[in-house]
Amino acid sequence: SQENDRVPSIDADRHPFYRFCRESLDGIREQGRYRRFTPLARQADRYPVYDHVTTPAAEPPVGREVVVWSANDYLGMGVEPAVAEAAIAAIREHGAGAGGTRNIAGTSPLHAALEAELADLHGKEAGLLFVSGYVSNQASLQTILTSMPGWICFSDRQNHASMIAGIKGARGATCVIYEHNDLADLEAKLAAAPKDAPKLVAFESVYSMDGDVSDIGATCALARKYGAITYLDEVHAVGLYGSQGGGVAERDGVADQVDIIEGTLAKGFGVHGGYVTGSAELIDYLRCAASGFIFTTALPPSVVAAALTSVRMVRREGWRREKMFERVATFRAKLTAAGIPFMSTPSHIVPIPVGDADRCNEISRRLLADFGLYATPINYPTVPRGTERLRLTPGPHHTDEMMDEMVSALGTLLRINARHEEAAA
Ligand code: PMP
Repeated sequence: SQENDRVPSIDADRHPFYRFCRESLDGIREQGRYRRFTPLARQADRYPVYDHVTTPAAEPPVGREVVVWSANDYLGMGVEPAVAEAAIAAIREHGAGAGGTRNIAGTSPLHAALEAELADLHGKEAGLLFVSGYVSNQASLQTILTSMPGWICFSDRQNHASMIAGIKGARGATCVIYEHNDLADLEAKLAAAPKDAPKLVAFESVYSMDGDVSDIGATCALARKYGAITYLDEVHAVGLYGSQGGGVAERDGVADQVDIIEGTLAKGFGVHGGYVTGSAELIDYLRCAASGFIFTTALPPSVVAAALTSVRMVRREGWRREKMFERVATFRAKLTAAGIPFMSTPSHIVPIPVGDADRCNEISRRLLADFGLYATPINYPTVPRGTERLRLTPGPHHTDEMMDEMVSALGTLLRINARHEEAAA
């Protein structure tokens, strides 16, 4: 396991870095930010029921069943039999690994087909796969922003760590952070920048922690006015929004105004991998220049086959999206009826505010221990201190009974918690 709550075994005097690690971890624990992973084994046929593996090393896993409320496999496509079968068939036919980087024997016809499918989904000329959504952001932004001298990147304050990594890694480029979803601030900053510098605006559609959604059309119009290109992360939207699951840009009819649309195959599509789509030459340039694309082994054919099957199903089968939004609405109605506060969002994400790291961890722990419900605590630095929360993602597989259990458990724990707060005050 990656975790170690006991006395560390290595002598901290051996090297200053060992001492640094120990002291840093002590600080992280004191702040309630120590990350504990809960071993959960998915049950393909009973999603979102998982096995809570109480003994990590046990083989086969032992434990009890829990209902998971925090997964990012929003539509449950990762356990969809046709998707899993596509992976199994591809392993039988092509083996387990890709065999090399994309350039060195690692490009299969499946990779090419998936890239074409994704380009088509977003109405773009070309698509390019990466080993994850994180790498697609980091590698693409870093490559673009180091391509010519003098780039200025306008980055939404709440952009994901992977975008920030790419922007920060672009030596020579200037990063200007604009306030979250604040177009007046973006415009002021665009207007203040040198006219002839190459500019890029990087933002997301659905922000995953607050569940709020950007105005893509207005952002692109501003960018165009000041001669900037646009880079949009639709990681939490692809598969879920738009008539074909092309994301919020598709839903809003503005996909053609975005220069680069980035997405993941791991959330709405339930499998694994990341990608960017855009104009043929821009994508071709990334293919030839992006280190994070070139110097890593290609996604395994099984993963690509599963993702291709999933994307095709999700595009065609709008009922999956409709069902998800119906379930989200039902869950919100149940929370409202029970008087449980939640952050109201225009997306499928339902954050339950807690406001303190220790309380958040404690509620999450008790949900699991006392009720068999799994909801991850979201703490600093993922969200600002004082805004700690549980982040719930109801999906097509959450039944009314599961919802009632969650609502009742939250009612119990939040009331207990409120009483603790009063006692402490
Ligand atoms: N962008 C955003 C906004 C994300 O939330 C994430 C993952 N949580 C990523 C990119 C990275 O995607 P992946 O998990 O496919 O690496």
